[in-house]
Amino acid sequence: MPKIAVISDIHANLHALYAVMADFQGEQCDAVVCLGDVVGYNAYPQECVNEIRALGCPVVKGNHDDEVVNLENTRMNRIARMAMEWTRAQLDEESLTWLRRLSLQRIDRAKFTMVHSSLDLPQAWNYILNANDATGNFLRQFQPLCFHGHTHQARVFTWEGGRAFEHTDYWMQLVQEGETTVQLDLESGRKYFINVGSVGQPRDGDPRACYAIYDSDAATVRLRRVVYDVAGAQQAVLAVGLPEYLAERLETGH
Ligand code: ZN
Repeated sequence: MPKIAVISDIHANLHALYAVMADFQGEQCDAVVCLGDVVGYNAYPQECVNEIRALGCPVVKGNHDDEVVNLENTRMNRIARMAMEWTRAQLDEESLTWLRRLSLQRIDRAKFTMVHSSLDLPQAWNYILNANDATGNFLRQFQPLCFHGHTHQARVFTWEGGRAFEHTDYWMQLVQEGETTVQLDLESGRKYFINVGSVGQPRDGDPRACYAIYDSDAATVRLRRVVYDVAGAQQAVLAVGLPEYLAERLETGH
């Protein structure tokens, strides 16, 4: 199982999901895993659930996957809640049951950990924005490699000498220099906590879809950006009557 595509935060953006699937097929990935938030914000929740289920891949639960089946307890802001109520109405019972049953974390056959936000209190849905935030995760991370999402921003954290560090050069090359791919060489003995960014709603100022490819034979992780039909995804958001802001943010990547 050497090359694994790691995708997260699809957020019902079918245009972006198709582009990323074509990209990882082109990269000859042997498997795929999904770090949650399959639904929410965009126009194709049912279709994205169908596509992810058809991949037959390991999936962990995101906060949107959780809240869409627990709307009564939502802590979301007004726009997210409006989108969530619309999303719930689109999903069939089988999909809601599938979302409800997703686990919060799991260890893949390739011996890495998957979680949507963080391994300490995964259901608190904390945002890991810097090395300090990543400390609690590392104290609960028992595999050398853990992938996460949730902030919609690709990030690389390592744990060395009892401290968490953030390696900003990787995302700067992607976002500021517009690279398509950056490669991280994994060193044995180091612990890595890697945010793979978002397929369907990037929030780092770069509208391109983002995901990662883990090559367990070569011991590398490549973060990749994929151009997709943003205008098509925006039109779909507006056509179903979701808030205009959700269409606008796809273009700016915020
Ligand atoms: Zn998300």
